[in-house]
Amino acid sequence: NVAELLWRGARTHPQRPCVTDLDAPGGPRTLTYAQLTGRVADLAGGLTAAGIAPGDRVALLLHNSTEFVETFLAVAAAGAVAVPLNVRLREPDFRHMLSDSGAALLVTESALLDRVPSGGDLRIALADRERPDRAGRPLAEPVDRAADDLLSLMYTSGTTGAPKAVMLTHRSWHTVADMAQEVLGFRGDDVVLHVAPLTHGAGFLLLPTLAAGGNNLLCRSYDAARTAALLHTARVTGIFLVPSMIRMLLDALPDGWAVPDGFRWLYYAGSPIQPDTLRAATTAFAGRLVQSFGQMEAPMFLTALAAADHARAVREPGWSGTRSAGRVLAGVELAIVDAAGAPVPAGVSGEVLARAPQTMAGYWGRPEATADTLVGGWLHTGDVGYLDAEGYLFVVDRLKDMIITGGANVYAREVEEVLLTLPGVRDAAVIGTPDRVWGEAVTAVLVAGDGGRDGEAVRAACRERLAGYRVPKHVHWVEELPRNAYGKVLKRELRRALHPQQ
Ligand code: ATP
Repeated sequence: NVAELLWRGARTHPQRPCVTDLDAPGGPRTLTYAQLTGRVADLAGGLTAAGIAPGDRVALLLHNSTEFVETFLAVAAAGAVAVPLNVRLREPDFRHMLSDSGAALLVTESALLDRVPSGGDLRIALADRERPDRAGRPLAEPVDRAADDLLSLMYTSGTTGAPKAVMLTHRSWHTVADMAQEVLGFRGDDVVLHVAPLTHGAGFLLLPTLAAGGNNLLCRSYDAARTAALLHTARVTGIFLVPSMIRMLLDALPDGWAVPDGFRWLYYAGSPIQPDTLRAATTAFAGRLVQSFGQMEAPMFLTALAAADHARAVREPGWSGTRSAGRVLAGVELAIVDAAGAPVPAGVSGEVLARAPQTMAGYWGRPEATADTLVGGWLHTGDVGYLDAEGYLFVVDRLKDMIITGGANVYAREVEEVLLTLPGVRDAAVIGTPDRVWGEAVTAVLVAGDGGRDGEAVRAACRERLAGYRVPKHVHWVEELPRNAYGKVLKRELRRALHPQQ
């Protein structure tokens, strides 16, 4: 049971700070390992007394807060299954996720109550009003769990289809914590700042921080300027950001800002990083950048691009590894295969398959989707990529976003990268649209930057940089691109908007 990590912390260093909630209602509030363990034991006892049995699902709709951390750990300690819901989603999403997961209880907070679907027999507990622990006796020790027992159902962000619940076990979470330790090297004096939603990537850093005896510093939401200041004032040693948050942070750094002495890592993952963002980050956070590649189905660490790799990119400006997601981690196997499932040589793109100990047990209630995704122990990531001769992985595109035009493969991402360098383009997404002659046509959906909407100028600029078949045949202008709660472009919505019959 992963909750044992907390109990162990309470035994070995009870007085160390464990969680600091910077946005708690009465002002910042810190709990020690002993205090958090006491509260989690109370809460787990309360859940048990309220009839939550091992294996039952308990949904969490909570901002990043002490309540999130203690509820998650209490659900784990009670042997139940946590279903974290992202607060940025809307009522219809919650309705789907609550019924799909069969949640027996929803733990939320007053401010979010108006987003909770009404009706049904779902029980609701308000973590900020009354803790559901009055009735029970504190749990002395976490309930015994086997490595294969479920700990959480995590909804995918729904970029490529309706959100599905990924089943992660205690083994998955322990493995991710061990890998995080290996890649980032947590220590007892760490202060890890959580500004990204704990319901997604950032949540995986709670356990390794706890396991090392460090402190988890929580912000309800992301404010780049505040984050830049906190790195100094709160003596932060590590932070997780997705690439778009790094861009915002770089834009918010005041003149003369320098990385604080004790700061050791800025870890990023979750989507490809734009080359100019990476360049600027490499200067601002020299020696401290770490990237990984993973997906909810195999969380966080399949590969890692270490700080030393980022340093090499500075020493050898032409080194192609700067565009890489790093090398495979110990315990993980990667294979790149063609459409027939046969392995391809180094340098050739194909679908990325992974065999890793943290891989999901499957999609909750979806045996067919599970069978399509987990084949003979290999996870089909749905990403297209290649390995170079040194074993660095390059993620090229999502398989579903690849466009086949006149028999040639066009990676939407490559075209988008060119488009985003054009001054007339502020934002860009490339999709395939049906074409009578070519099968699919490369179509750019753009948000205008300086200088207005000139599709012909965009196409002419692309012709200088891209092979002819990759140049967008159609250019559409929009005010804004549809994005999900994690900031990823929803291409299926674009396809549907441009071609409703699709
Ligand atoms: P859904 O599965 O519902 O479509 P999603 O794609 O957003 O949602 P996540 O698990 O949030 O699912 O994101 C994982 C995906 O993000 C990976 O499959 C990959 O496409 C991309 N990704 C993650 N890390 C990297 C990285 N370091 N470099 C490039 N792409 C990355």
